Amino acid sequence: MTDDDFKKSTANLKKAVPLMMKHHVAATPANYALWYTYVDNVVPQLNRELDDVIENYGICPPAAGEQLYNTHIASRTETDMHDLRANIEILVNEVAHSMSDTLTDTSQFSQMIDKSFENLERVDDESMSLDEVMKVIRQLVVESREIRHSTRFLNNQLENATKEIHQLKSQLAEVQQDALFDSLTSLYNRRAFDSDINTLCRSEQKMCLVLADIDHFKAFNDTYGHLFGDTVIKSIARRIQLSCREGIHAYRFGGEEFALIVPNKSLRVARQYAESLRRAIEKLSIRDRRTAEQVGNITISLGVAEIEPGESAESLIERADKLLYEAKDLGRNRVMPL
Ligand code: GH3
Ligand code: MG
Ligand code: MG
Repeated sequence: MTDDDFKKSTANLKKAVPLMMKHHVAATPANYALWYTYVDNVVPQLNRELDDVIENYGICPPAAGEQLYNTHIASRTETDMHDLRANIEILVNEVAHSMSDTLTDTSQFSQMIDKSFENLERVDDESMSLDEVMKVIRQLVVESREIRHSTRFLNNQLENATKEIHQLKSQLAEVQQDALFDSLTSLYNRRAFDSDINTLCRSEQKMCLVLADIDHFKAFNDTYGHLFGDTVIKSIARRIQLSCREGIHAYRFGGEEFALIVPNKSLRVARQYAESLRRAIEKLSIRDRRTAEQVGNITISLGVAEIEPGESAESLIERADKLLYEAKDLGRNRVMPL
């Protein structure tokens, strides 16, 4: 590293750290890399996207930061998982080879023993001399030592490989757990929601929370099957994703429930947004592949709550949830509060 490089990186770090603090960004290596790249101004697309996030949210919600890091800085999470999977496969193959090596050696060993016993039998038959008997025994000892040595070696290999597989498996689980997105809908997942809503509430940003739940969803499962139910969830998620503008983030909150964070808007505006989403979903019609039937009448109920000063995430979620259940009680396919 030249002096200039060093000066530049120190200067960048001095700019990045205060920005991270200002925007409530946790001090993780990934975040340092993200904000370092941001102040370094070398990836214009990253700067534009991060500027948008900050304009909408005032801070950088963790999920958005993580996604920007994945897109612009790290190779994507999928690539990591792919590598891990490939590594596990290689290890499993190695173990399988070790096992068959051991088996081959063992069968060689039993052949050797058979031969030695044959030799020993000759002791009686052919009245071998003591020297000849000792020769047969010594050979047996040497061969058994060799085989023991190689078995121990293979056992060690096997043990190491097993340990490594264990490690890789837990790493894989971590990466999967760390992933930001829900696999069925590709929306942000519940983990991303929890960390975003908590960070946003702590930073006292102006925002509204919308909770949405599919009406009589169980009936779709019961009538058309679970797979069709999944299709309904996916279609609604796609429609929700399409409706996300002005920094709105959509999450799969639970099985057939969704959450939307609407930054920087009053309750009135967020309610209007929820109402337009409700109308868009009402128009959905999905074809059931099995019966070729067009299935309509797909509706959602929504509850909208605006954060109050100092309010916790739990309390905000609880209020939105309560309004959602009022919407259900009043007959579904509606937004509460009125
Ligand atoms: P309500 O209008 O009161 O919300 O009625 P509902 O039938 O939608 O409500 P309920 O909570 O009784 O049923 C939700 C069902 O969603 C139960 C569960 O089996 C199903 N479900 C949850 N997650 C999934 C999923 O990922 N795929 C499918 N196909 N079904 C799911
Ligand atoms: Mg539900
Ligand atoms: Mg439901």
